[in-house]
Amino acid sequence: MVPRMSEKASVTHRGAILLGKNIACDAFDESKPLRVVTHAHADHMVGLRQSLKSCERTLMTKATKDMIDVMRSPLFLMGGMVETMDFGKTIQYGDESITFFRADHILGATQVLVEDAEAKRIVFTGDFRIENTPVLYSDVLVIEATYGHPTCRRSFGIDVKASLVNLVDKGLKTGTVYVFGYHGKLQEIMQILHKAKITVPFIAPERVFQVSKVCEKHGMNVGHLMLSTEREAKQLLETNSPCVAFYHMESQNKVGLDNFRICVSGWEFDSAIRRTGDKEYIVALSDHSDFNGLLEYVRRSKPELVITDNFRVSNGEPLAREIRKRFGISAVALPKK
Ligand SMILES: [Zn+2]
Repeated sequence: MVPRMSEKASVTHRGAILLGKNIACDAFDESKPLRVVTHAHADHMVGLRQSLKSCERTLMTKATKDMIDVMRSPLFLMGGMVETMDFGKTIQYGDESITFFRADHILGATQVLVEDAEAKRIVFTGDFRIENTPVLYSDVLVIEATYGHPTCRRSFGIDVKASLVNLVDKGLKTGTVYVFGYHGKLQEIMQILHKAKITVPFIAPERVFQVSKVCEKHGMNVGHLMLSTEREAKQLLETNSPCVAFYHMESQNKVGLDNFRICVSGWEFDSAIRRTGDKEYIVALSDHSDFNGLLEYVRRSKPELVITDNFRVSNGEPLAREIRKRFGISAVALPKK
């Protein structure tokens, strides 16, 4: 039984999640006519240019398409046949059907369900947070394994969002607060602060600003956001006035060096907030499930076989081991390292 199931999905050495006969998710694979982009993070757009050129179709949500249009260029996706899919709507390809289901990760993120000719359900979770992601029943489950190591368990039960708001409030008393994070998460923070009635101006450089506008278009509320090159924004930053400046993580050593600084990272498991300098903090706001959350998905999905994604973060092995031990379900980490 298992060997046959194991032919229904795989993860290649180039990071492609292969589902059924026709689909490669999140990296290019020459053997599959359909490419899926589960969301707009760079490690899920591997070989996208090549997929656009060689695949029959590239599938993604409308929000993911809009994100890629601003992160690359509107011309980029015109290099191929892109089809946008709504959550819950099924398309047929040969004797397989494909359906997207929402994943709580960043705007536009999706899970992928393939139902094959034998009515087997092959699921790829993509990146997700267990709390607000619908768990899909599966026969074969491919699951992300970012925090697939037993040390990746968040032990703090307190509300990270509330702690973040308090910290920003405290920082604003000293002037400008710089927040560093990845695309998608920065916009989530804008929304959290806006909802918490932090009314100071928000400032962002070009790329972060454009991604935020896409999030706004798709229903998020990112507050009163200004472009960092605008005169008023420049003045606020130069005079260290109370405002929040949102920058991509890669700028963390370039801007706001003397200011109140907050880095947002999921790789924190002991406390919601950790002080790393005089006016510098790390806040543990994650857009991934921790170790327990990953196991919870497997338990509720009831698969016959689990494949853990061992390409993106090398935590596939310990997660597969725990799944075998705890649930007695066949589990393998792919690709083999
Ligand atoms: Zn991601």
